[in-house]
Amino acid sequence: MVILHNNRELDQWLAAAPGPIHFVPTMGGLHRGHQQLIRAACGAGVRVLVSVFVNPTQFGPGEDFTTYPRHPDGDAQQADAAGADAIWFPAVDHVYGDANLDCSHASSRLRIKASLIRTLCGPWRPGHFEGVLMVMERLLERVQPALVVMGEKDWQQLTVLRRCLPAFYEKRCRLLPVPVVREEDGLPYGSRNSRLSPAQRRQAALLPQALRDAEAAVHGGERSATVLEQLVRTRLNSAGLAVDYAQLVNPLTLQPCPRLDGVALLGVAVHVGPARLLDHRFLLSRQPIIAIDGPAGTGKSTVTRLLAARLGLLHLDTGAMYRAVAWRMLESREPIRSGEALQKLLETMELRLTWGDRGQQVICINGVDVSDAIRLPRVTATVPRVAALPEVRQVLTRQQRVFGQQGGLVSEGRDMGTAVFPHAELKVYLTATVAERARRRAADMTQRGQALPPLATLEAQIAERDHLDRTRTEAPLRPAEDGVVVATDGVGIEQVVDELEELFYQHVSHGFWSMHHRSGRCLHGPVT
Ligand code: AMP
Repeated sequence: MVILHNNRELDQWLAAAPGPIHFVPTMGGLHRGHQQLIRAACGAGVRVLVSVFVNPTQFGPGEDFTTYPRHPDGDAQQADAAGADAIWFPAVDHVYGDANLDCSHASSRLRIKASLIRTLCGPWRPGHFEGVLMVMERLLERVQPALVVMGEKDWQQLTVLRRCLPAFYEKRCRLLPVPVVREEDGLPYGSRNSRLSPAQRRQAALLPQALRDAEAAVHGGERSATVLEQLVRTRLNSAGLAVDYAQLVNPLTLQPCPRLDGVALLGVAVHVGPARLLDHRFLLSRQPIIAIDGPAGTGKSTVTRLLAARLGLLHLDTGAMYRAVAWRMLESREPIRSGEALQKLLETMELRLTWGDRGQQVICINGVDVSDAIRLPRVTATVPRVAALPEVRQVLTRQQRVFGQQGGLVSEGRDMGTAVFPHAELKVYLTATVAERARRRAADMTQRGQALPPLATLEAQIAERDHLDRTRTEAPLRPAEDGVVVATDGVGIEQVVDELEELFYQHVSHGFWSMHHRSGRCLHGPVT
């Protein structure tokens, strides 16, 4: 491993070989948490650079800038052991030059969304996140990495950078979050832990313990933020620890959650002796829900199926439910309109969803597996009119909401984020141009061995279907206000799935979800 002391040495090292740089920025005092980041950064054909820089602009007056642990030799050893190719120790003027270190002045180009720093550490450390944003911009400008690896331990920092650092939100470089690495008693590894006496270290273990107690309260049915926050405060205060905050927030927006409804993050900061320590825990009142909407032919079904498989969630194809009703109506030869006949048909229709070994949704009507039959062109042609019937929507929406009470779903349809699951953690609207969708539809029909009409006919059908979906009075097709629009023209399916997976991990931490998964609490099997 190479040790770099200044910008000239860094630039030479960067220029010495081609290929992407994976970058792990740190403030030193390296420990197993940092080492995990370095290991995650390693890969074939890439070079891993670790920086050690105690950034003065992120410390406030009276904070521990001068006493922050500085052990360059130990840092070099740890970085080397974890597989880094180089470690860089810049001095303050290497990073900032002669710039005035007043953040508000020097970083006027960078703006923090005020709402992201109104909670958690924001009010307790004025100027801190501005300093973090500023240093990250300087470091990335110089290093130009392809990937930056950071810890979920500092969830607010991660969120602020993801949303406010142009290199990340403009996707000039990827950000890889790494789960919190904890000591045996649950305390996250942290550079400041080394400043604790043995007695203080024992006290510090109460921090993750208090969060586990809050989780136990949630399992016992508690949903009030005030009660959960107070529980943590009381536990810590009674052990003599000074609590800055214990706060339940939405993990994406970092806005306070008055009640736990879905997924939330309970963040805590305490003072133990000379150190201020952070920890958090994800709390769930139900499994997460991802709602994917969009017009026909955007690759919704494939994307949803792959995403569900990757995340260990169930794939709820609500379009198939509408198709099943359309199939049933065609079978019954009833006219497609509201009225008594439709009511009767719905009342006598038992619609059952199960999931096969490969996560594929199997749909049965009155005991008959119609998974293939509902894909026939005559069903495709009928389904928009069936889906527009209020009685059909009512029955199916009710059934879908029942699934939503447990969560654990990636649901696809046309009104998932807007009408059926307005509380979904992640709402996505997939789009593509009509021409692109017609091409995809044609490829799909060829694969299914179906007769292929001219492309212009397919385009006209798709445009007509869009029009019907967008102008129907009941829950018309449109993106949810707080959803993400993802354009898929010219983008491979895997790439779309990667993007959605990254979005999911902005709502539910990677570390938490992989643990949760392994504990086998996800829904599997039949749901009716
Ligand atoms: P720091 O040196 O404290 O600024 O941390 C540098 C990077 O390491 C940040 O992205 C932190 O989130 C991450 N990090 C620090 N401690 C841990 C830990 N225990 N587990 C995972 N990541 C960590």
